[in-house]
Amino acid sequence: MSPATSPPPQLRRITRSSLARFAYQSDATSSAQGNATTPQITDIEDAISGDGTTDTTTRKRKRAVVSASIKREAKSATIKKEKGAAEEEEEKSAPTPNRRARKPARKIIDPDTKTAIVAPPSDWEEMYDLVKEMRLTGPAKDAAVDTMGCERLALPTASPRDQRLHTLVALMLSSQTKDTTNAVAMRRLQTELPSHAPEAGEDVAPVGLNLENLLAVDPAKLNELIWIVGFHNNKTKYLKQTAEILRDTWGGDIPDTIAGLTSLPGVGPKMAHLCLSSAWGRTEGIGVDVHVHRITNLWGWQQPASKTPEETRLALQSWLPRDRWREINWLLVGFGQKVCLPVGRRCGECELGLRGLCKAADRGKVNQGRKVREETASLKVEQVKTDGDDEDGLVLKEEYIKREDEDVNALDMVFSEPPKEEVGVKEEDSPKQPPSKRQTRRRRGLI
Ligand code: SF4
Repeated sequence: MSPATSPPPQLRRITRSSLARFAYQSDATSSAQGNATTPQITDIEDAISGDGTTDTTTRKRKRAVVSASIKREAKSATIKKEKGAAEEEEEKSAPTPNRRARKPARKIIDPDTKTAIVAPPSDWEEMYDLVKEMRLTGPAKDAAVDTMGCERLALPTASPRDQRLHTLVALMLSSQTKDTTNAVAMRRLQTELPSHAPEAGEDVAPVGLNLENLLAVDPAKLNELIWIVGFHNNKTKYLKQTAEILRDTWGGDIPDTIAGLTSLPGVGPKMAHLCLSSAWGRTEGIGVDVHVHRITNLWGWQQPASKTPEETRLALQSWLPRDRWREINWLLVGFGQKVCLPVGRRCGECELGLRGLCKAADRGKVNQGRKVREETASLKVEQVKTDGDDEDGLVLKEEYIKREDEDVNALDMVFSEPPKEEVGVKEEDSPKQPPSKRQTRRRRGLI
């Protein structure tokens, strides 16, 4: 008898016990029928098909079906376990995040001039301002780029010419390298790059990153100093070639044009625009790195999605106001480092996700974040109601609520009568000190 004629197992739900039954039935059947014509079943997922047969020719497709089924069962079980019936119902019927349909940047005819212009994506400014807020005071503040970005790595004590070289070298080292790693390599160059042989009349040349030392250093030594960055062999070669070009063509300084900068080996448009902005204070284009490219496409600002950073740069420059061209790199690089990470985005803490402005938001994380936000916000509202005239009181109240997790009426009672006598300290000694948990309970007659 072939396996297809065996009694089909009931596969409504895959559980450990049903798997055990399956194994038992299979063994029993094999034993009863003899093993000579029965295929060996080694993997239960490979053996079970959607209709309960063991068709190995469609194994891959059937396995996917079973796997999905198991996942659905597991998810359902988790929901049932963690939530009550009402909550489960609420979860099932939870509305989708309030996503707004976004129009990408698109060409339109200007009604006044009757010429074609590029209209910016809808609500881009709201998104931009929210991201800026997150970068300055929210979850995206204090990103690595703020202290270790290429623009920050020039030594303040160096001459202006050397500082410009520092910026260029930092940018050349930065490709395929994290800001933190790049900062280490730059610090080594700035403190350990050997001094060149002193020229006539010069007692001793300084150690550190300058054009003369870069020209004089042995490539092997340079490679050793920057070994920590990605592609350091190529970068060593490019740095040595660049040093010679700067000496021979640019009078020992770095070029002050995009064309001049992109003529250097290993320098592309992104580096050129960032370098021109940072070293020469002139912004002629947007420095689009992987974060800017990735995030603006996630948001749907380009339609169809741009395929390269250069495409993104041209698309953004067609509509983004020029006064944002320099800032947007800082904005989105830090945002990409802290919140909208390439892996493990923090959508639950992101204002764009929480306000339904991001079409790429992770719905589960956003729902979770909204719950946390609602709880926090309600606490803050109560705080304003009770101590609205006193700024210090606001902070005090918030801390108290979080630590004690008490209801608001109780807090009102406590704060309407400062517990100075019970604490045993004068109010002026500790006017902002909240009562302890024990004191609160005592006042409420709980102890
Ligand atoms: S909601 Fe998520 S995907 Fe969208 S910008 Fe924020 S972190 Fe990125």
